[in-house]
Amino acid sequence: MRNLEGKVAVVTGSTSGIGLGIAHALARAGADVMLNGFGEAPAIARLRDELASEHGVRVGYDGADMSRPEQIAAMIEHATAELGRVDILVNNAGIQFTAPVHEFPVERWDAILAINLTAAFHAIRAALPQMLERNWGRIVNIASAHGLVASVHKSAYVAAKHGLVGLTKVVALETATTGVTCNAICPGWVLTPLVQKQIDDRAAREGIPVEEAKRALLAEKQPSQEFATPAQIGALAVFLCSDAAAQIRGAALPVDGGWTAQ
Ligand code: NAD
Repeated sequence: MRNLEGKVAVVTGSTSGIGLGIAHALARAGADVMLNGFGEAPAIARLRDELASEHGVRVGYDGADMSRPEQIAAMIEHATAELGRVDILVNNAGIQFTAPVHEFPVERWDAILAINLTAAFHAIRAALPQMLERNWGRIVNIASAHGLVASVHKSAYVAAKHGLVGLTKVVALETATTGVTCNAICPGWVLTPLVQKQIDDRAAREGIPVEEAKRALLAEKQPSQEFATPAQIGALAVFLCSDAAAQIRGAALPVDGGWTAQ
């Protein structure tokens, strides 16, 4: 199914984890992709080659730091210049830090809000005018189960992800009579480097093996007791980009093994 042939997607934070899974899924559906995120130059070059040869699409890369508004605007310009247009924007880049609110380092709060929330505003602001001009666009914001419910020690992350769900609704309403849609995906636990760090921290803190920390993490929140996968998140992103999803607007769709059903 190459239903996204001729479309161009920008996926932020796509050098790893969920973003990379989404980039693969969009490319498999035929979209040209502009990758973004941190990493070593040779590893990023390998990713570009892999995606391009596996899926027969054009793959660019922009190293914009999502905490820098001017670099985000430049990334959208770069994608438009190199790949011709931006039809699909996936705001995925994100970071995590955990601490009780009264001990939360101010600079960590600022960074999480900037990268997990404000970056999406800047990217949407830069990309939306051309989508409206062509009367077709898809904006997919990667929020979290933490965009819908809270957990202790995640004040900045939960605030940012709830904010991202709110931003998603506003953009969906403002574009409601157009061919542009905006939705959020709310993953539960997905085993990526971001979550592996939380598992490793827990194992160290509780003096338990990593495998046990992994099981405990799932048992606490995710009724399925299984991780969701980047490929599953990617498949939902592709569906949201399809014509079948044209009337899904302003939704926050959980992929969380039942986490938010509790
Ligand atoms: P990850 O650490 O594997 O990947 C994060 C990506 O963002 C990387 O490509 C990294 O280079 C990039 N990034 C980080 N800071 C950046 C910056 N300042 N500028 C540009 N790129 C930057 O993490 P992941 O688990 O794949 O997370 C992706 C998104 O999914 C995040 O928004 C995260 O909050 C969300 N999410 C993850 C989970 C999970 O369980 N893994 C659950 C819910 C939501």
